[in-house]
Amino acid sequence: MNIKLMLKQHIGSPCKPIVEIGEIVNRGQLIAIPSGLGARIHSSVTGKITCISDSEIIIIPDENQTNEYIKIKKTQNHLEAIEEAGVVGAGGAGFPTYVKYSSPIKGGYIIANAAECEPILNHNIRLLEEAPELVVKGIKYAMGITGAEKGYVAIKPIYKKALIAVGRACKEESNIEVKLLSNIYPVGDERVIIRELLGKVLEPGQLPIKMNSIVSNVETLKNVALAIEHRKPVIDKDITVGGRLLNAKRGCVFLNQPIGTPIKKFIDKSGGYVKPYGEIVVGGPFTGLKAYETTALTKTSGGILVSMPFPSENRKIGLIECECGASIERLNEIALGMGAKVVATTECKRMVEVNGRSRCDKPGECPGQAEKVLSLKKEGAEVILSATCED
Ligand code: SF4
Repeated sequence: MNIKLMLKQHIGSPCKPIVEIGEIVNRGQLIAIPSGLGARIHSSVTGKITCISDSEIIIIPDENQTNEYIKIKKTQNHLEAIEEAGVVGAGGAGFPTYVKYSSPIKGGYIIANAAECEPILNHNIRLLEEAPELVVKGIKYAMGITGAEKGYVAIKPIYKKALIAVGRACKEESNIEVKLLSNIYPVGDERVIIRELLGKVLEPGQLPIKMNSIVSNVETLKNVALAIEHRKPVIDKDITVGGRLLNAKRGCVFLNQPIGTPIKKFIDKSGGYVKPYGEIVVGGPFTGLKAYETTALTKTSGGILVSMPFPSENRKIGLIECECGASIERLNEIALGMGAKVVATTECKRMVEVNGRSRCDKPGECPGQAEKVLSLKKEGAEVILSATCED
């Protein structure tokens, strides 16, 4: 089972390899560095490099692997440790964390995003249940780096066990609190979190920094704590596996899995497929993308889901896009999978154009789409495929 380390696991440009074919590398060893905005990439296994291309480095791992790793070099300060370790937003965004934490937010807020918004996914909540102290440490380090005054853990009340665990972990911390989120989708959106926790409204396209805040996923904060305290690079990922799988219909969590592992390994570990099955999706049910058995785990992979086969649909179809759901490209892909002919497309009525991009005006305050459905029907659609949160 080869390990495939993608050279772009972050927002920015692909990293530049600093190793050669045939070289033996150790788990934790730095193997690629940013060539612009990006984050360092380290080997997640000990083994031999067999292929390097513009997009990936392939390693044949030694038979015996351990959890040991080569530590990142000693750094002058915590921000440098985060940069050295290649920490990026693990919730899916992949923005380099050292860049995000480079903006001071004196007197502001560090918010740990534990919304676990997409159905089935549960690895962020499991992390809070099993190692809440790591997340709280990550918050403290982030506060120290940025000058934030308060830390919040944003979580839904439905996750009782995690809520109690993290509540205990921050009991002694006078400036860190647990805050409850509504049980809606997409409450994990940064703008919704800021609105729910601080009562402040960000305009479409505005970032939390505008409200003197930084929002980080809980796994990102874990990686921050590990980088600073254990000098551990980002080489492992937490993941949820679910869907048409024998032992994971309701989701099965695997913590600390080597990045670069082909996702088929997790499908097998979950008992294999339940037939009939459809496509494999990496990410959540709302925003995930089509993947293949050979697709590799990255620093931002969320879930590995196996769907039902697409229903067959040979009528004319209309598509409705939402900022927090499937993109129009993804909806077209699904329509194609069903054998349907796309005759018209539109977007949720709350979408507005900002800097040439469609953004949601009020995420989480999702309207009905009757008017949009009627307009699609006028254009010949006989059935509608909607990615909106409400319908
Ligand atoms: S208001 Fe519309 S675009 Fe915004 S999150 Fe809800 S359904 Fe999506």
